[in-house]
Amino acid sequence: MKTIDKIYINGEFITPKGTEYFDLISPTTNEKLGKVLLGNQEDTQKAIDAAKTAFKTFSKTTITERIHYLQNIQTSIKKRKEEFISTMIEEYGGTSQFATISFDYMLKSFESAIQLLNTYSFNKIMGESEVQMTPIGVVGIIIPWNSSNGFICGKLSTAIAAGCTAVIKPSEMSAQQTQLITECLHEAGLPKGVFNIVNGLGEIVGAEISRNPDVAKISFTGSTAVGKIIAKEAVNTMKRVTLELGGKSPNIILDDANFSEAIPRAIAAAYMNSGQACIAGTRLLVPEDKLEEVKSLINNSTQNIVVGDPKNTTTTVGPMVSIKQYERVQNYIQIGINEGAEILIGGLGKPNGLENGNFVKPTVFVNVKNNMRIAQEEIFGPVLSIITYQTEEEAIKIANDTTYGLQAYISSSNEKRAHNVASQINAGRVQINGIKHDPMAPFGGFKQSGIGREFGTIGLEAYLEPKALIR
Ligand code: NAD
Repeated sequence: MKTIDKIYINGEFITPKGTEYFDLISPTTNEKLGKVLLGNQEDTQKAIDAAKTAFKTFSKTTITERIHYLQNIQTSIKKRKEEFISTMIEEYGGTSQFATISFDYMLKSFESAIQLLNTYSFNKIMGESEVQMTPIGVVGIIIPWNSSNGFICGKLSTAIAAGCTAVIKPSEMSAQQTQLITECLHEAGLPKGVFNIVNGLGEIVGAEISRNPDVAKISFTGSTAVGKIIAKEAVNTMKRVTLELGGKSPNIILDDANFSEAIPRAIAAAYMNSGQACIAGTRLLVPEDKLEEVKSLINNSTQNIVVGDPKNTTTTVGPMVSIKQYERVQNYIQIGINEGAEILIGGLGKPNGLENGNFVKPTVFVNVKNNMRIAQEEIFGPVLSIITYQTEEEAIKIANDTTYGLQAYISSSNEKRAHNVASQINAGRVQINGIKHDPMAPFGGFKQSGIGREFGTIGLEAYLEPKALIR
């Protein structure tokens, strides 16, 4: 049993003033893993003060110095690869395959931040004027539990590259993972106060970050509902916001696609991170006259799914992070049944032999209409809805008929056609015949999937204020 009773402020591990504990529960067994002491409003203020003071000098560091810090962090993280992976598996039930991908994602964030610093010009000429791209100030970083360290690294690497300082509020459910990344960041020798990490509840620590006038920007990843609360609060002090929110990603299989490749890829896209991924391809759009072939390919490719203990390297779908999340997924499966959708595989309840953990049966619904709740709302579990279409135009219309717009997937054997369809989809990223992360390409959502972009030049500029010197 681990007790995490320190937060990190101004270069030191300190005991928070908060007195409440939050229990850390294994998603695989529902046994108590440990507990975390939560910070409060006073702790958050202290962290913001430290970041504000550090900003005065860190904002003036040279590109060479920032690259040096980013490289140091990479080195510290690399040394603890096995611990990162095992902690992700234990704490949130990420499969070992997904935890390994998440670990690589952490390192790639620092690599791409270094790459950006080697090429980006912080001084530009626009019109007849000089434009200085200046660091924005103290950044509040608020993070969800799914791939918690991946998001911390993505945001913090960019903040450091820009010359900003940060106050990070991870999910309280990820306290052990947070402890590890904090130790690595500490070891990297950054100046005091450049990053500060406060474990705590969203309504207390997150809310203080959102309202505090000394925070210049919020970079948030999480649900659309909480994103709206943060944006409302942030506007009072005119904070800049980058919001990475929910998704209900369409996966269009065009009639000329190689179906025997596209369907296993669709299953992988739907069930990535056991379905607990904002970019999961949860709406599979297939030509009506190919439905029988699709069903049979789904039946074949889901035979390879292994639900179980995420520690086993063969497991492809692990448990839901919490009982609450398990119940949410069950509730949506029931909603799908009530709405008249038909279960092709999976369904309600836990798989045999896995009654102790938060395991759900990977589920595929057919006969789904796009206006059903299971096709419109983010479930955040391994539940895939198959929707049929008759024409390419109809497929595009259905794909765009959602309040979200984070990612989309297209399969076609004709690249030009896929490209043409992709250009009509309202989503921040469209994956053609694959599933990849490009850390130099922008990532973010259209519509209620968010505001702004992360990664690449556009992501870096979200941490900078342009200042034009007109002479
Ligand atoms: P969540 O929105 O419940 O919580 C995210 C963070 O916000 C947590 O740290 C939480 O403590 C904090 N928070 C809660 N209330 C707050 C408040 N009033 N003020 C400030 N902060 C507050 O999300 P979650 O359940 O942890 O994660 C799942 C959600 O995250 C899903 O909706 C998923 O789509 C989304 N997500 C989006 C992306 C993306 O890049 N677009 C990536 C991963 C997850």
